[in-house]
Amino acid sequence: MLFPRTCLACAKNVHANNAHAVICDACMASVPLYDALHCPVCMRRIPASGTPCHPEAKYVLAPATHYAHAPVQKLIWQMKYENWMTAGAPVGTLLTNYLRALPHDFTDYHVVPVPLHKNREWKRGFNQAAVLGAHVSTAFHLPTIAKNLVRIKETPAQADQKDYALRETNIQGAFHVERPAEFKGKNILLVDDVTTSGATIREAVRVLKSAGAKKIIAAVVARAR
Ligand SMILES: [Zn+2]
Ligand SMILES: [Zn+2]
Repeated sequence: MLFPRTCLACAKNVHANNAHAVICDACMASVPLYDALHCPVCMRRIPASGTPCHPEAKYVLAPATHYAHAPVQKLIWQMKYENWMTAGAPVGTLLTNYLRALPHDFTDYHVVPVPLHKNREWKRGFNQAAVLGAHVSTAFHLPTIAKNLVRIKETPAQADQKDYALRETNIQGAFHVERPAEFKGKNILLVDDVTTSGATIREAVRVLKSAGAKKIIAAVVARAR
């Protein structure tokens, strides 16, 4: 038996053969996607040609959209805390639609999901970044490097830490690379759900770079800043 489903954003009935299951087509289409890579320091769009404004950042940010949009917040919340199977699909679609429209070639990139600490992953039952990484890997036929970048430090959920300086301190030393040779000379598409202060991604980038990673693009569904 099929349950009547309602859209998590507007509460209208979701059409029975809607592929996104938890959100209606209208709300899904209402989410504005960015059309460029962004500088992670000043959040300016990075032009397709020319030098980035803050090259010291060591990576560029690829945010599909902004966290301020209500359907985005609801989808991400649903994916993390309710049902990653059904909500993961539309969230993954936002990210892959955005990446596909970029004037950028990802053919020689490897997907690396931002890892959770094993205790948190065990409690949640999955890693939302790995769910999104799988979507990206499938959409672009890219290999994933799994279980190499690992989280060795349990930190409070970033969303619960209002103090940006504290986030920066807490995240230091949180990541470890098990097999540096596997990252050496590779271009990395680092995948996560949301970036707020950028502290998590910066620390992951630092560790990946010291393992010899070449170019790093941090692909996130939403930036909250
Ligand atoms: Zn709706
Ligand atoms: Zn900049």
